[in-house]
Amino acid sequence: MHIERIWPDTRLRNYHYLVVCQETGDALAIDPLDAELVLATARRHGWQITQILNTHHHHDHVGGNAAVRAATGARVLAHAGAAGIIGDVDRGLADGDTIRVGRSIELECLDTPGHTMSHICLFAHADQPALFSGDTLFNAGAGNCHQGGDPVALYETFASRLGRLPEGTRIHAGHDYLLNNLGFTLSREPANAIARNLAQQLAAQAPLDMPVTTLGEERLFNTFFRLQNPAIIAGLREHFPELPEAPSPREVFVCLRALRNKW
Ligand SMILES: [Zn+2]
Ligand SMILES: [Zn+2]
Repeated sequence: MHIERIWPDTRLRNYHYLVVCQETGDALAIDPLDAELVLATARRHGWQITQILNTHHHHDHVGGNAAVRAATGARVLAHAGAAGIIGDVDRGLADGDTIRVGRSIELECLDTPGHTMSHICLFAHADQPALFSGDTLFNAGAGNCHQGGDPVALYETFASRLGRLPEGTRIHAGHDYLLNNLGFTLSREPANAIARNLAQQLAAQAPLDMPVTTLGEERLFNTFFRLQNPAIIAGLREHFPELPEAPSPREVFVCLRALRNKW
């Protein structure tokens, strides 16, 4: 499995991905917005885009569907619950479905509500497991819930689905927000030396050179995976006095998400 990360340089800092079977050259395009760039990348390498996957219905994740499909004849795949909004979806997906790319790649569909209520993450069972997490889990952060989402559902997705994947899983997110997210981590946990060192190290890094973090690393600097950290809880209680001294992870997550909205 080859993963090509594409940077279309949008205002929202989107990443696109091509997941390529190295035996056949078949490719799955994930969340294309800049169709020209995605098509040119495939052409340059001699890959054939046979499928398009939208993690969810937001425009910056589906805007290139029509042009990529027109140029390649690729089938469009999306969460069955989002298919009506996206339009022209050839295959509606549900939790546990498998997407095959060429001969060598199998991707498992995870139903991951929270950012929107019909959001799919893809998990690649491979020697180096990989997650395509759309706008659910960002490197060092979590998706917002402003446009059709729900923070409690997002917590459940983090706790019961994404947090249970193998620790070595590499996180390929829908946007490059890593540096900004580390800033939020440090606002909650100023003594987090790992987050501070990483932020310093990446301060001048180009988006295509940003590291792809693993789930194990996320636990060290993603606030939304550090819900029992005493410093985070103490800091939150200054903003949310009603929060109990020993809050549940769910309560901490929801307060963090609310605080992040205003940060
Ligand atoms: Zn989105
Ligand atoms: Zn997005």
